[in-house]
Amino acid sequence: MTRKEALLCLGVESTAHTFGCAVVAGDGRILSDARAVYRAPEGKGIHPREASRHHIDRSSGALGDALASAGVSMKDIDLVGYSAGPGLGPCLRVGAVVARTVAGYYKKPLVPVNHALGHIELGAMLTGASDPLVLLVSGGHTMILAFLEGRWRVSGETLDITVGQLLDQFGRSAGFSSPCGGRIEELAGRSNKEHYHSLPYVVKGNDVSFSGLLTAAIRQASSDDNNGNEEEEKKERLEAVCYSLQETAFAMLAEAVERALSFTGKKEMMIVGGVSANRRLAEMLQAACARHGARFYSCPIKYAGDNGAQIAWTALSEYAATGKKVAVKDASVTQSWRLDTVDVSWRRTVAAPA
Ligand code: AMP
Ligand code: MG
Repeated sequence: MTRKEALLCLGVESTAHTFGCAVVAGDGRILSDARAVYRAPEGKGIHPREASRHHIDRSSGALGDALASAGVSMKDIDLVGYSAGPGLGPCLRVGAVVARTVAGYYKKPLVPVNHALGHIELGAMLTGASDPLVLLVSGGHTMILAFLEGRWRVSGETLDITVGQLLDQFGRSAGFSSPCGGRIEELAGRSNKEHYHSLPYVVKGNDVSFSGLLTAAIRQASSDDNNGNEEEEKKERLEAVCYSLQETAFAMLAEAVERALSFTGKKEMMIVGGVSANRRLAEMLQAACARHGARFYSCPIKYAGDNGAQIAWTALSEYAATGKKVAVKDASVTQSWRLDTVDVSWRRTVAAPA
């Protein structure tokens, strides 16, 4: 057994809605994954201070659950990883305080982790993707990334809101409670291309823009040109706009991904983040991958959203390769910590067979 395989890491995640603690072993076994998820009031978005209060209330329970279901105590843990950004300041600080406290008290090495990197590294470990082009699509991110010379380089990203925000803000305007992506997918499935509403399709270079699409979709869903059976027409219109919203937004992403596959020549493509649960998006990406001879990977749904395991696994990978850690007094958080500024020279890639 190598040094890494023998290590046990406690990972703490608290960037946004989820407070998560997980214990992961260096051979990739996820021994536990405890999560508490803040739900915003009906029709509202996530309120950072309210979410941080939720995290404070639930942090000791999640930590206890993670240790108990892994069948370990803090003494068995070799290192502690925590999500140090990007994310909502008040939420990030709760996770950092919990991680600092246990690491300081039990004298364990403490490793700050970039949350976006956590999504990617856990996805790569679980799917077996080695050197993929990555589409990271979540509440907080919309980015296309390729690993080159020690860093994840951004090949394309959103110029305004993320695709998760597009779906959630549209859904809330229609009266759904956040997160709305699953509900929109369900309603979209009841409509079809005969009912497609034309919506703004904005790809600039390899970047996408969703804000005009959001405004137009909200307007179309609420426009009132019906006569006769109003309720039935409203329902059908909403289903048609959900369908059109998905088709437009996902085609924009698929176009940018396809161009990135062509530029980078990557032979693997991986989707991670909460929006990767969407079957229509996966279908469009699979078609783009097939045209470029690239293998398509999707992070298992259970681990697609925010969780402590992504943080634990990334901390383990970095620590085993570099031994890098921070002193408790220097363990800070950074609300806008871009992934392309993070040194990941410890990452090992194995080229996919041609
Ligand atoms: P994350 O920030 O990674 O936890 O992802 C949360 C985002 O994923 C939210 O914006 C959800 O609306 C979105 N989401 C969850 N399930 C689906 C789905 N089936 N289709 C599209 N988006 C989804
Ligand atoms: Mg996330």
